[in-house]
Amino acid sequence: MKGTPSMGKKSSGKLHIMCRRCGNRSYHMKRGECSSCGYGNSSKMRKPQTMRKRK
Ligand SMILES: [Zn+2]
Repeated sequence: MKGTPSMGKKSSGKLHIMCRRCGNRSYHMKRGECSSCGYGNSSKMRKPQTMRKRK
């Protein structure tokens, strides 16, 4: 095999479940973080949709 294998065998259960913070189905179970708001991973935050702070 050369290069990166294409995503052929990726369908093993559902990876994205509903996020607790933003409510989107973007919480990656394997990674343990939401790809939408970054919930789960405290290192990085992807503009959370909830708790909006006005400056
Ligand atoms: Zn989220």
